[in-house]
Amino acid sequence: MLEIRPNCEHCGKELPNTSAEAMICSFECTYCEYCAHNLFKNVCPSCGGNFEKRPIRPSAMLAKHPVSKKRFHEPKDLEATQELIAKYGNISPGRR
Ligand SMILES: [Zn+2]
Ligand SMILES: [Zn+2]
Repeated sequence: MLEIRPNCEHCGKELPNTSAEAMICSFECTYCEYCAHNLFKNVCPSCGGNFEKRPIRPSAMLAKHPVSKKRFHEPKDLEATQELIAKYGNISPGRR
């Protein structure tokens, strides 16, 4: 089950459950759309995988399955991410 993390790991932007800007990789590294696409070019700086839009958990499910309140804010070294982007950026996600 997704944790639905509350913010962008890189810039700290609030990404509540209903946000349309939340992007996740398969490990649920969570970024805002701007960071995921403009800074990281669809290459997750932690795992090299791609990002997809995070689905929204329906409100009727929230009482039983609450979203995470634990903030994880660890800005990435943008120079180091350039290496990863150079390595994976032009490879389609299914071939990484
Ligand atoms: Zn961000
Ligand atoms: Zn990742």
